[in-house]
Amino acid sequence: MSAATDPSYIPGCVDTHAHLTVAEARGVAIDLIVAQAVDARVAGIIDVGIEPSDLQARRDRLGRWPIVFLTSGLHPTSVAPDSWREAIDTLCAQVDGLVAVGEIGLDYHWSTDHADLQRRVLREQFAIARDAGLPVIIHNRDSEADMLDILADELPYGVMHCFSQDADYCRRCVGLGMHVSFGGNVTYRSAGSIRDAVAVVPDELLLVETDSPFLSPQPVRGKPNHPGFLRHTIACVAEVRGTTAERIAELTASNARRLFGLNSR
Ligand SMILES: [Zn+2]
Repeated sequence: MSAATDPSYIPGCVDTHAHLTVAEARGVAIDLIVAQAVDARVAGIIDVGIEPSDLQARRDRLGRWPIVFLTSGLHPTSVAPDSWREAIDTLCAQVDGLVAVGEIGLDYHWSTDHADLQRRVLREQFAIARDAGLPVIIHNRDSEADMLDILADELPYGVMHCFSQDADYCRRCVGLGMHVSFGGNVTYRSAGSIRDAVAVVPDELLLVETDSPFLSPQPVRGKPNHPGFLRHTIACVAEVRGTTAERIAELTASNARRLFGLNSR
């Protein structure tokens, strides 16, 4: 392995968004990756669900590691008229032990057939999170205007995951109190507008993530992503904000611990 592809961690960091079992299915050796994270004193990896029915298998596979924290939620691309109610009922029954409801949101990229239903299901999951005292992890793709309307109406506590819009949109999100998390795509050469957004997030709302196995950072693009590559995204965010990678790791980990209540788990 070259230095760029060798997994390594900045001690104390938190990857706020990974799909470890999906990464494993793409060939990532997650036992090794998480063991290295433990050795490097990584403070947390948030493993994010996409359907409430996936929680048990993720808990069985990942529950042994104290640095891996679980969420559950119904992803907008999984919202379907004949199955969403059962999924929501399942979610309601499983919130104990989670650190967030997510990922949930709107995605008009693949289809707008169920756009009304996506918005309804998003609001239902905001209510579940509110009742459970949990933050939300929000996916937002090609749905910017509707998302802002719903955020302004519901004022959830949580994070815009894998933020991919511009600085103006970012200002609106942080103005509504949302945390903003940046993923590997912030490192892409064409991502100047996302880097502009990095610069406008207040310190206390800034987070980083891998979204592994997706969106590998530029130096490892084309490989399945995993938490050991978070340092590339941290380095990029640090450069934009004119500070050190260690400072960004410490700041974003502190924010993640507070948002997801990691210290009390
Ligand atoms: Zn995700």
